[in-house]
Amino acid sequence: MRSVGALGNLILDAEGGNAVTPKQLLSFRSTLESLLDAATRETFERRQSLEAEPSADAFDRVGLDIDRDLAVADLSRNSQLIRQVRAALARMEEGVFGTCQACGETIPIKRLKAVPCTPFCIRCQEAADRGMANAA
Ligand SMILES: [Zn+2]
Repeated sequence: MRSVGALGNLILDAEGGNAVTPKQLLSFRSTLESLLDAATRETFERRQSLEAEPSADAFDRVGLDIDRDLAVADLSRNSQLIRQVRAALARMEEGVFGTCQACGETIPIKRLKAVPCTPFCIRCQEAADRGMANAA
């Protein structure tokens, strides 16, 4: 008679390698979800404070304008992050989380822990960064 032990050993084996285990997947998912939560909440608050600002007399409001620029920069950084995190969660649904979207190699766990929403292995990321001028 077969026991569940066989399955347990399989999972243990996987844990030694670079592939993301179901347990790690769950922990990455909760990391991504809290990232998404925080970024969504911050975006909401920033938007509200931008909308609440009175838009009177621009000449006396240089300081406010700088704040506004910063808030707008934060907003676009946040929306980029939200996009990346959503894409990472979608890759999880598809079962391809942890696989480089450019070369198909397994992304090392260490890199995923540092940048959980990354779609690329370090080599492809560097290549993408170098090509940033075209991509942006
Ligand atoms: Zn790659």
